[in-house]
Amino acid sequence: MTGLLILGGTGEAVALARAAAPAFAVTMSLAGVTRAPVLPPGEIRRGGFGGAGGLAAYLRAHDVGAVIDATHPFAVEMSRNAITACTQTTVPLLRLTRPAWTRQAGDDWVDVPDAERAAASIAVERVFLTTGLRDLDAFAARGDVWFLVRSIEPPARVPLAHYTLIQARGPFDEAAETALMRHHRIEALVAKNSGGGATYAKIAAARALGLPVIMIARPVLPEAKTVNDIEAALDWARSL
Ligand code: NAP
Repeated sequence: MTGLLILGGTGEAVALARAAAPAFAVTMSLAGVTRAPVLPPGEIRRGGFGGAGGLAAYLRAHDVGAVIDATHPFAVEMSRNAITACTQTTVPLLRLTRPAWTRQAGDDWVDVPDAERAAASIAVERVFLTTGLRDLDAFAARGDVWFLVRSIEPPARVPLAHYTLIQARGPFDEAAETALMRHHRIEALVAKNSGGGATYAKIAAARALGLPVIMIARPVLPEAKTVNDIEAALDWARSL
């Protein structure tokens, strides 16, 4: 196989690129939304391809032997475009994704399908909102709620009436998450079911504090060959 295109934006994508680098000519593709992303060695390209057609054109124009979609489980557009473009160009595609979090004993989760339903489900006054800046608009109507908003990037605007913003990048640990929630007298957590270890500490902290978690379910993606760990992704790439 020649080049390996990794669709990134996650810690797993960076770890995969590092692990694959000696054996494959790796190009990591980033949406370009994070100003100072963690970067692996190797080639980096930033910015959208211009839809599925643009990605198909990129695959035809470059020496891409395979694509690994290691985007975030909520990055629906990119994952859909990868399927369409790889089907059109017959370039093999693999999805590398973390298993979703599942309820543990002591968890008090309210399952919702999207950010709008998460906003409607809030039944307290002080909420830790960890869905990322993309979804803030869904919470704008909740002027009766104060939000602790955490994001990696500084937002261009925050469409909320009452909030405090903190900037931080994971991984986070449970003791610090517990202290943060105590300090801000948080009464409920809103989270996407991202899966993985880097941001799980807030879920464990909410459990320990006896707080409800409004958990936004993963979007359903079209079928694609999928693995959950980096070694399995490398095995797949080696097998081509
Ligand atoms: P999205 O809605 O699926 O994608 C929107 C558009 O952004 C895509 O159509 C594509 O533009 C471009 N894009 C996304 N990922 C790209 C990549 N790896 N390389 C090149 N272009 C990319 O994605 P999103 O939810 O906005 O996420 C954007 C990035 O942030 C992704 O890399 C994702 O892994 C990461 N991320 C997302 C979340 C989340 O909650 N959604 C959380 C953490 C990290 P074109 O159509 O022009 O190609």
